[in-house]
Amino acid sequence: MDEGIRIEGLSKRYGAGDTAVDALKEVNMSIAPGEVVGLVGPSGSGKTTLLKCLGAVIEPTRGRMTLGGEVIYDSDDGGWKTKDLRALRRDRIGFIFQAPYLIPFLDVTDNVALLPMLAGRTNGASRARALELLQALDVAHRAKAQPSELSGGEQQRVSIARALANQPPVILADEPTAPLDSDRALAVVRILNQMASQYQTAIIVVTHDEKIIPTFKRIYHIRDGRTVEEAGEGRDIS
Ligand code: ADP
Ligand code: MG
Repeated sequence: MDEGIRIEGLSKRYGAGDTAVDALKEVNMSIAPGEVVGLVGPSGSGKTTLLKCLGAVIEPTRGRMTLGGEVIYDSDDGGWKTKDLRALRRDRIGFIFQAPYLIPFLDVTDNVALLPMLAGRTNGASRARALELLQALDVAHRAKAQPSELSGGEQQRVSIARALANQPPVILADEPTAPLDSDRALAVVRILNQMASQYQTAIIVVTHDEKIIPTFKRIYHIRDGRTVEEAGEGRDIS
């Protein structure tokens, strides 16, 4: 079935005429629920453009995208399937960035509970979900702390909990380990793998971090807007 992420013939052109840039050229990709894949390529190759299309931040020029078994975009059938792209981003897609970007005036629990609350769940259910994730990520003992009271590694784990808060079928991680040392970077990848299999999330990790590339079982290399799939080393880090 079409669960997870499927991208078919995805193209993105910025601008028009002589100055047009073809940032993605008929990209195909598919990531199963529970799978973590790497997206690796040099600067300017189209990584951010691909994540932005998948994250419904920009509109592709052509192609088709499926999330969690549902077509979200089809250029041959009217484009986006929903007019409410904000709800699509909030409910169906988790984002993890290089920096944790926690909200400084909310405690750890509320940082994670905010998205379920915005999605219309009750405060009680949202906090319960937050605590469950904080436990899974081994930071429940910091549940009442302010973000500024946490170590960098703890903040990153809270940001991973936040990305999982609405149980999205998909998580997009843009260079999540770039600022971390080797042990911490591998710890983050270990957690992403655990979370992917525990919550059956499909995870794309954009990276050029040599410390973590050997951990992927599958890697998409992107160059000049075209992707090539390759088996990774799949080094055991459990
Ligand atoms: P990466 O994230 O791999 O560094 P990007 O997706 O940011 O690559 O960029 C891919 C190509 O698209 C580059 O040639 C870049 O200059 C171009 N590009 C990115 N964003 C825009 C934009 N908003 N307008 C025009 N060209 C852009
Ligand atoms: Mg980029």
